[in-house]
Amino acid sequence: MIKSKAFIDELETISNKTFKSEEKELIERAIEVVEYAHEGFYRKSGEPFVYHPLEVAKILASLKLDTITLISGILHDTVEDSNGKVTLEYIKKNFGKEVATIVDGVTKVSKINAPVGNIEQKKKSETIQKMLFAMAEDVRVIFVKLADRLHNMRTIEFVDDHEKKKYKALETLEVYAPIAHKLGIHVIKWELEDLSFKVLYPEEYYKIKELVAEKKKEREERTNEYVKQLMLALKEHNIKAKIEGRYKHYYSIWKKMKEKNKKFDEIYDLIGIRAIVKDIKTCYTTVGVVHQIWVPLPGRFKDYIAAPKSNGYKSIHTTVITQYGEPLEIQIRDYQMHNEAEYGLIAHWIYKEKSVDLKQKWLSQLLDWRKELLKGSTNLSELKNELQLGEVFVLTPKGEIMHMPKGSTVIDFAYAIHTEIGHHFSGAKVNGKIVPISYKLKNGDVVEILVNKSSKGPSLDWLKYAKSPRTKAKIRRFFREQEKEKLIDSGKDVIRKLAKRLNTSIEGLLEHEKIVDFLKNHNLSIEELFIRIGEGSITFNDLLNLLEKPKESKKAVKNQKKSYKNLIAIDGISSIDVHIAKCCMPVPGDEIIGIASRRGITVHRTECKNIKNIDENRKFKANWISEESGGFFAAIEIELDKNERLPEIMNIFVNKKINISSLKVSDSETWRTVFAYFTIMVKSLSELNELIKEIEKKAGVIRVRRK
Ligand code: MN
Repeated sequence: MIKSKAFIDELETISNKTFKSEEKELIERAIEVVEYAHEGFYRKSGEPFVYHPLEVAKILASLKLDTITLISGILHDTVEDSNGKVTLEYIKKNFGKEVATIVDGVTKVSKINAPVGNIEQKKKSETIQKMLFAMAEDVRVIFVKLADRLHNMRTIEFVDDHEKKKYKALETLEVYAPIAHKLGIHVIKWELEDLSFKVLYPEEYYKIKELVAEKKKEREERTNEYVKQLMLALKEHNIKAKIEGRYKHYYSIWKKMKEKNKKFDEIYDLIGIRAIVKDIKTCYTTVGVVHQIWVPLPGRFKDYIAAPKSNGYKSIHTTVITQYGEPLEIQIRDYQMHNEAEYGLIAHWIYKEKSVDLKQKWLSQLLDWRKELLKGSTNLSELKNELQLGEVFVLTPKGEIMHMPKGSTVIDFAYAIHTEIGHHFSGAKVNGKIVPISYKLKNGDVVEILVNKSSKGPSLDWLKYAKSPRTKAKIRRFFREQEKEKLIDSGKDVIRKLAKRLNTSIEGLLEHEKIVDFLKNHNLSIEELFIRIGEGSITFNDLLNLLEKPKESKKAVKNQKKSYKNLIAIDGISSIDVHIAKCCMPVPGDEIIGIASRRGITVHRTECKNIKNIDENRKFKANWISEESGGFFAAIEIELDKNERLPEIMNIFVNKKINISSLKVSDSETWRTVFAYFTIMVKSLSELNELIKEIEKKAGVIRVRRK
């Protein structure tokens, strides 16, 4: 049994803070769960497995991380190493979404076995990619994973499989230490490097350790002297500073010897000192003081405050020659810079906890790094798939990460948050600036959607800017519903008028035998009847005729508008109800285009003159799904000799069983010919073309044109 009170006390001491009572309760519960989960599991050292996650939590506490991270550290192996006793859902339910996300991320990263050693750099980079992807969800995933690896490396001596030991050390050196470095978490990076160094090159490790120890006393004495000297000088200038000696760690000494081909004696920067002062201004005053005591080495002054390193590192470095003739590097920085230099991303994270700004920075840094690593990758497309690079990561103003398909615009984002937010979209701010609706989201953008609660709903143009099919579907659904309501209302109005005319009520009218028959014959519901009336395909007069002149009831049907659903696809979607333009009357087979209007989408022929000047944003791709239709209106204009008899032409229609809906004849300017305008019902373009050909053959016909 773990004494949870003692453990919590220890965490408090290490992290130098006091937990609130609810935090304590949560940690206690985590301890219960972790004990239960790893019961019967032991480490190579013979200790119960549970010691490991508790040590990981202590490391996290030493990094001053928050309670969520500590709990995630305690639970980080419970899903993987509990024989299924603990599930992610269980963690989510008991410890919340954040802890579950972190534990899940750590589990995923742990499953990646990085290729190491004599393997091409590309492959290695790709692995780091995968890890980065796994932790993109929450930066604390990598904090926990680094602490996990650190504890495993601290206890690696107990692993007796030599190969495994070597592999873990190599993976640490080549993957985890660079990640720690990249994120600026140097306290962890140095220790990881030295621990791996010891496993991989034990001879060199102990040799360097010995060499360092040899003149250790002498070096320490000199360092103390330099520290005192600087301290006094600063005091004279009224500068308060924390001054400390710095000792190079073993791995970096060895690396320097190897890279620069130097002997141990030739490494002069084994020691250095560091002055930490209160602010930036004092940093510069301190440099002045340093240069008064010792002569600066030309070309060795580096101002990383004015120009920080790419990982954000800030400090002033200067190398001087001391009274003993040896070079001495001095680093000068303020407390915040110091924290950031040692703890990197962790420091940022703690200082500006929950800040969107930081998350944004971290995310874009992560993604930049990913891009950098992906350069020159062989299987780029494959890898892209695997990493789902088809996605962009953006943030809500609250800092939640949203994955969106690449190419998504702010309108997609609005609908992704909530359909109602989408419907009431009135604008968007990205990174604090107003952007147009067409703005394509970029990684790390902070997107804020502006909402107008009194807006009536989306605009059809939005379909143009929406990338995601889901967004498009939501917008279309809105219009279908909207349209429906409106049509029903105006249909009802017509029925009301009709009822008044016939001295009855709406209900009375709808129960009228002829109406009931009509509905039955046409398989319409009352609602559908209203819609048909509303859209004008059944008119007041049609109904009046139906009720007053029973035998002509068929006429009313003739004019009835078809539903073009499943006949015409707009933007590839077939379930949209469209209108057929009266100006150009397209028939199946014609090249067509959809035009958005307030009424919905109207389908025109692409050659229609009326659409020439229409804004591109209102145009939609349209095509026929089926060329089989019940019938479409088409208009043709026949110019024929004045003396020619029209009935002969009309016979063609009769023989072909083509309905004529209207006929108008007018004289031409020359008075020698006449124009006959027919509106007819055809099934397809080929039928229409055949008909036109046949009419053209008739004597006296000058030309036939479609209107
Ligand atoms: Mn672990």
